[in-house]
Amino acid sequence: MDFALTDEQELLRQTVRSALEAFCTKEWLDDLEAREEYPADLFARFAELGLLGLGVPEELGGSGGGMVELAVVCEELGRFGGSVNMTYMPTAVFGNQTLLGGADADMQARFLPRLAAGQLRTAFALTEPEAGSDAAAIRTRAVADPDRDGYVLNGSKIWSSGALAADYLVLSARTGSLDERHTGISVFMVDASSPGIEIRGIAKLGHLAVRSCEIHLTDCFVPADQLIGGVGRGWKALVRALDAERICVAAVCTGLAQRCTDLALSYGLARHQFGQPIASFQVISHMLAEMETETAAARWLARFAAWRVDQGIPGTKEASMAKAYATELATRTATRAMQVHGGYGYSKEFEIERFYREAKLYEVAGGSTQIQRNLIAARMGIPVTGGRP
Ligand SMILES: Cc1cc2nc3c(=O)[nH]c(=O)nc-3n(C[C@H](O)[C@H](O)[C@H](O)COP(=O)(O)OP(=O)(O)OC[C@H]3O[C@@H](n4cnc5c(N)ncnc54)[C@H](O)[C@@H]3O)c2cc1C
Repeated sequence: MDFALTDEQELLRQTVRSALEAFCTKEWLDDLEAREEYPADLFARFAELGLLGLGVPEELGGSGGGMVELAVVCEELGRFGGSVNMTYMPTAVFGNQTLLGGADADMQARFLPRLAAGQLRTAFALTEPEAGSDAAAIRTRAVADPDRDGYVLNGSKIWSSGALAADYLVLSARTGSLDERHTGISVFMVDASSPGIEIRGIAKLGHLAVRSCEIHLTDCFVPADQLIGGVGRGWKALVRALDAERICVAAVCTGLAQRCTDLALSYGLARHQFGQPIASFQVISHMLAEMETETAAARWLARFAAWRVDQGIPGTKEASMAKAYATELATRTATRAMQVHGGYGYSKEFEIERFYREAKLYEVAGGSTQIQRNLIAARMGIPVTGGRP
């Protein structure tokens, strides 16, 4: 059993850390977030570093590597704030992994090299106003239009992160009946500038530089060669992307929790009350010790799930375990780090307030904690409502 990263993985981790330290300063992020401006230059930097092709085979223009490498990178991104990982994941995780999960060789060759090179950006559009946790209940319709060799889409999506900055939407729609649930779903690469698409940003609490969006589709035409994996076979492609998302979110939350722990530790050592550093009060030192321990546990759950996927061993249960644990840990750790900072933590002068605002999202997006527990329970043989296939 070897817990160490390989030399290449360690080099990758250090490269990402030093690139982000140089790029993602607090002032830079504060400024972008105040203006809710998409960090296109950061996306370009990801491309230069080869990070957008991670997990994509080299013969398809990617950088190679697998889920472990993606988890290593996402943990580093998580240290720098939600806008940073929200710039990365919609393309590097949702775009790439959905195409790898279901697209035929021709479609992979058409899209993956451009995604890996940073020439195209994607956003993921699964959730609908009436279908969140119950994703198999989506109602957006795709109807075949044989005269034009394509499909006509009508319906609404919500919360698609990065949609306003995307070239293509990885969009799920119903081609079968509602009763068919997962087998009635197809996934399309929809050109975001197509006639009939309207995209609007939603005001939200955190991750402010990357807008999460409503999308309205009115008679929007999509060519047949932009259907991923065939009619009714969308869910198969999505399963790969959703497992990857859970592992990456668990890794992001590990990075967030480690950063909160590091910030709380240095503040706790520097801040004196009653003539001593507050970190040396036992209640605070134990809190910090627990934060450090639980963060390590989250890291290993994420990497274990990633390792299973890379080995070709089923990793859906482990991905859900990692996401459920790491996301609750992120909220708990950000809250504790705020407490260590006292009143100063509430000030915009300190970074901790950003993590405190942003951590909660991860318990909801990408399948809530309750849904992850349903998935785990279903794989333990328990009949549950909402344990997806
Ligand atoms: C900022 C943000 C960004 C997002 N980005 C994207 C994106 O890029 N693309 C995309 O497609 N979606 C995105 N989402 C959507 C996200 O995945 C959904 O919000 C999430 O799946 C939950 O759906 P819902 O919000 O409709 O909540 P609901 O499904 O209405 O759930 C509400 C509550 O009920 C609980 N609940 C529901 N069903 C059960 C059950 N069977 N058992 C126990 N509890 C249950 C949930 O856990 C939750 O606590 C984003 C969301 C946010 C807030």
